[in-house]
Amino acid sequence: MLWKNLITQHFPDAWPSGQIVEEIQQKLKHDYQVDLQHFLLGDCRCIDDLVRSDQMAERLAGAGIFSLGGLAGFPATGKTGFLSFGDHVPDRGTAVILYGPHIGVSELNGLGTVRRFGHLNETTCCGSLIGILNRMQQTDQPRSTGKASQSFDMQQVFVERQLFKHRSAILKSANPVLEITEIAYKLARRQISHLVKATGKQFRGKPIVLVGGIYVNTKFGEEDWFDLRHCDQIPLR
Ligand SMILES: [Zn+2]
Repeated sequence: MLWKNLITQHFPDAWPSGQIVEEIQQKLKHDYQVDLQHFLLGDCRCIDDLVRSDQMAERLAGAGIFSLGGLAGFPATGKTGFLSFGDHVPDRGTAVILYGPHIGVSELNGLGTVRRFGHLNETTCCGSLIGILNRMQQTDQPRSTGKASQSFDMQQVFVERQLFKHRSAILKSANPVLEITEIAYKLARRQISHLVKATGKQFRGKPIVLVGGIYVNTKFGEEDWFDLRHCDQIPLR
């Protein structure tokens, strides 16, 4: 199936990232009165170079970009990272957090792989999530946190332990690659909301706007797409 048809089949609300950048900027400006020159963007997406290859964050950013995410887009920098991000927001500016997992789309293999620049063959995407899915197919136990520190693989074990709680639903799904990505989105959204509620009162900027979605990586040379799921403000009590 053509890659565009795969995207519209699995992500009917996705659009090329350039169009989505404009839509998000309009929402920030009109729905949340964000000064587009004075917001700091917290990028909480996967660290994969492919996520940044079309510079969606750079096109969206106002005052700069602060990296908040780790493997698979989970908020690996934790409270310390969020507090530091909040402290760097311009005076009378706004904190905007872009988050969500990514997924490759391939005419050869469907969802979960992509052909990267300089590669003859396709590789997994998101490599972190597909690695966890492969592990789920071999064992019903995630690695322990103790083993993680010994193996110098802390982030992947952290993500693995979150997702293994949903192992049964993922493996029973008609499309486990899509399912693990959808669950990763929900978990990351919940954790980021929790972190913002825990740290947001100390942010310089108000309000704080969260922009979440699933980033779809296409083959090298084609624009990536973004399925915008949420654009909302976290109430701070
Ligand atoms: Zn990834």
